[in-house]
Amino acid sequence: KKYYAAEDRYEQVPFKRCGHSGIQLPMISLGLWHNFGHADDLLKAQNILRTAFDLGVVHFDLANNYGPPFGAAETNFGRLFNEDFLPYRDELFISSKAGYDMWPGPYGNLGSRKYLISSLDQSLKRMNLDYVDLFYHHRPDPDTPLEETMGALDHIVRSGKALYVGISNYPADLAEKAIKILNELGTPCLIHQARYSMFDRWVEDGLLDVLDQYGVGCIAFSPLEQGMLTNKYVHGIPEDSRAAKGMTYLQREAVEQKLEAIKALHQVASDRGQSLSEMAIAWLLKDQRLTSVLVGVSTPDQLKANVNGLTNLEFSADELQAIRKVLEA
Ligand code: NDP
Repeated sequence: KKYYAAEDRYEQVPFKRCGHSGIQLPMISLGLWHNFGHADDLLKAQNILRTAFDLGVVHFDLANNYGPPFGAAETNFGRLFNEDFLPYRDELFISSKAGYDMWPGPYGNLGSRKYLISSLDQSLKRMNLDYVDLFYHHRPDPDTPLEETMGALDHIVRSGKALYVGISNYPADLAEKAIKILNELGTPCLIHQARYSMFDRWVEDGLLDVLDQYGVGCIAFSPLEQGMLTNKYVHGIPEDSRAAKGMTYLQREAVEQKLEAIKALHQVASDRGQSLSEMAIAWLLKDQRLTSVLVGVSTPDQLKANVNGLTNLEFSADELQAIRKVLEA
């Protein structure tokens, strides 16, 4: 059935300015790491994208290697984009990345100019796009000079293949160096994509300050710890969950280890009148330095539920204290 976007799509999710840039992003963005591979149900994937756009979640995040297999998420997204979103291209903010293993040999990984430029060319072909809105270097490369990697990002913007660039998984000191190089080149770093959740707070130890100082935005990935910070695991591990499917990145043991904390946080959330995922999202966004949280969802309803978290971003001192107690136990 032909898709017509909801007319009230900009009334649901608030937008926030990304650092000192001209770009505003929805405070919840959608990641396509899971659920868009070749083994996944494309109709379901289509429903997730349509639901997102109808809610004003106009930022879709991809990477060269999302799938499985590598590239599949971009190929499937490209197909769905062509079917549903051609008339809405200018309302969408689409990102891709390169930095992890993508194809054999030394040119298909890490941070050389050779890898980044050819990878983005491949991504554009798979998605059938002329340009992406945002292109990231996905992780630091210990061996390639940072000047080369940042120079490649600068070139990519100047060649019109991306409108903005960002970095991901860079520690604070390296992020600062990268940001400075990009500033000198005249292609400022728009955003840093970093893992950040109640269970993983490394960004509080310097990175957020650096980003704030240089006017760079921050988008938090895996804000729900791949589902641990939702109501999903409070009563055990359901069969249709990532943890039960034994996906490499979320193991049963990790959930079992955190179960006490999950239950305690769930209680704090209930006392606030929120689900755990709503509270986990609100807790991140209470920090003004954060631009957006980047969630993954396996159903449209999960996305709707997560968007609900935006209705209460205020925390009392008692609530913060109760949360701190759980996280520091
Ligand atoms: P999340 O922490 O948001 O976990 C997503 C999973 O949580 C879903 O697949 C679902 O699990 C569960 N979930 C989400 N909402 C709910 C809900 N309301 N109720 C119950 N369960 C829920 O994020 P991801 O780890 O998926 O990461 C998000 C995005 O971040 C990725 O798609 C990608 O774009 C980006 N990313 C970037 C990385 C980087 O290096 N830059 C690394 C990793 C991710 P289930 O499938 O079990 O239903």
